Amino acid sequence: MAPLPAPVPWTQPLPEASPPAELAIHHLPTGTYVTRAALAVKGGSFGDKRHFASSAVLVRHPQGDLLIDAGFGAGVAAHIAMLPRFVRAPYETGQTVSTQLDAAGYDRRRLLGVLPTHSHWDHVSGLDGLRDTPIWMNANERAYAASDPDGKVFRSVSEGHEIHQYGFEARPYLGFASSYDVHGDGSVVIALAGGHTTGSVIVFVVLPSGRRYAFIGDLTWQIDGIRRRVERPWLLSKLADSDPEQLRQGLGRMIAVDGLMQIVPAHDLGSYEGIPLLQPV
Ligand SMILES: [Zn+2]
Repeated sequence: MAPLPAPVPWTQPLPEASPPAELAIHHLPTGTYVTRAALAVKGGSFGDKRHFASSAVLVRHPQGDLLIDAGFGAGVAAHIAMLPRFVRAPYETGQTVSTQLDAAGYDRRRLLGVLPTHSHWDHVSGLDGLRDTPIWMNANERAYAASDPDGKVFRSVSEGHEIHQYGFEARPYLGFASSYDVHGDGSVVIALAGGHTTGSVIVFVVLPSGRRYAFIGDLTWQIDGIRRRVERPWLLSKLADSDPEQLRQGLGRMIAVDGLMQIVPAHDLGSYEGIPLLQPV
């Protein structure tokens, strides 16, 4: 299967950032579910099963912390039961984000919000344990989540939550036309990617060391999508993506910066390597 054409590598300077010394990130894995490789990337074999991670990432900043995605919640069984039968998959759960925060003695008043990369069930199930934390959404994703059949779990689990709607500025970031610099210091920047859902985002984080991360949600499900430049199989893309062409453009932009930052597709457990877990204080 032909890979996407290789984009021109990014040669301009990377966007400026002055992250505070306290900025840190943590990986909060909450479980996995099984998807066959044949369904995950073009050219994947049917017998090869992939364990899809469902994780959250805590971004700590002196002006307030954010959780990127929410992982599996305590109600994950009920959430999966709400899905159409053909997408239900065997899954294994670990500790929820809520449990991990409490085990670490984490003060939730530090949380500005939970920022889902998009509103699909496997990214928002854990909102059920984060009732007092606002959900950060952009207008596009709010509209998608309110009406799309794939927003069903979100609509249920977000009930009673405060929604904090953030907006984008017409400030290009690594080829994406719209971005939002959360703290104004370039350390945490949300870029509108669209494609998978209408309001899908990528969260770019720059650590004090200068190390950069791109949390790309479901732009691709596995890092193969970046390294081998392969897309989702046609049928799955048809089912899963709201705008395949926009998705392809976003994928191209991320392929162009591969090697300049650690790219983390939400469901690729290996791509979180090196990000520390949240330890008890
Ligand atoms: Zn997903």
